[in-house]
Amino acid sequence: MVHKVIIIGSGPAGYTAAIYAARANLAPLMIDGGVGRGQEQLGAGGQLMITTEVENYPGFEHGIQGPELMQVMRNQTLRFGTIIEEEMVTKVDFSQRPFRVWVEDFLYEAQSVIIATGASAKWLGLPEERPVWEGGLGGAGISACATCDGFFFKGKEIAVVGGGDTAMEEATYLTNHASKVHLIHRRDSFRASKIMLDRAYKNPKIEFITDTVIERIHDPALKKLSGVSLRNLKTDKQSELAVEGVFVAIGHKPTTDLFIGQIDLDENGYIKTHHNVRTNIEGVFAAGDVQDHEYRQAITAAGSGCMAAIEAERLLELEGSK
Ligand code: NDP
Repeated sequence: MVHKVIIIGSGPAGYTAAIYAARANLAPLMIDGGVGRGQEQLGAGGQLMITTEVENYPGFEHGIQGPELMQVMRNQTLRFGTIIEEEMVTKVDFSQRPFRVWVEDFLYEAQSVIIATGASAKWLGLPEERPVWEGGLGGAGISACATCDGFFFKGKEIAVVGGGDTAMEEATYLTNHASKVHLIHRRDSFRASKIMLDRAYKNPKIEFITDTVIERIHDPALKKLSGVSLRNLKTDKQSELAVEGVFVAIGHKPTTDLFIGQIDLDENGYIKTHHNVRTNIEGVFAAGDVQDHEYRQAITAAGSGCMAAIEAERLLELEGSK
């Protein structure tokens, strides 16, 4: 059987694409990413499954927990008849139509594909990071999203780790909430663009700590962040910093290993798109964080999932295969 559309991935982009595709009578098949393994492999639902309170998704006046939001979207997806396979795609072949998608040895074929595999934040990889983080991400003190979690740190002293544009942007943004932001970077030169670096330098609430790494996070036993131990890489000097929050801003990794050699990716591995969601292969669309390193919000991902489904519908209609 050749499906009209296969959706790979099940975050806000994938679910929204499925809702729109199903309501356009495309009978979508979603391959949802399977069961996740925490930070290392997010699985079905994606980044929102490891997020606590989501307060900025419109329609939820009093906020909603990330996993609950994903369950509501999944229920809505199922209501319109999307078939969801709880599996992880292992191989694709977009060199001819119908496109081919494998889960191990099992082959699926489709006239169109919507890729919504998302991205994941890079973490420091410290042993204490995870227990603290399991206390409830932003609320517990460790986050990789200032827009999402900055609000929890009103009037508090916090740290941002990283030396790229994201770190500068997040540090600057966080000064709207925090009383002080320590920007910790492992070198004394920065990848960040001059304009963003200058803006951060000029901000009186931001203090730079260079050539320095976080060695330990306190206190995993409490599942809450109470401070960090630092080490200066040049002098080897150790010190303590009492902060209530750490924002890790050392980059994201789009989930695109599967598509290397199949589709055009940019230098950071994100899927290149034009007309919002079209890839270089006609009939293959990409939506959400897998193609957006700029906004990275659930609502923008959902919006692009909607666009991808509409684009798929229009193309199949045009080709007479709808
Ligand atoms: P980058 O890869 O540019 O920077 C990552 C930073 O994290 C580097 O300073 C790196 O240090 C540091 N780092 C990496 N791993 C570790 C680690 N394990 N421990 C400590 N530090 C670490 O990622 P960004 O997310 O900042 O930016 C990604 C892309 O998005 C860039 O192209 C950027 O320009 C763009 N962007 C643009 C924005 C805008 O224009 N408004 C806003 C945000 C991002 P080191 O330098 O030593 O390798």
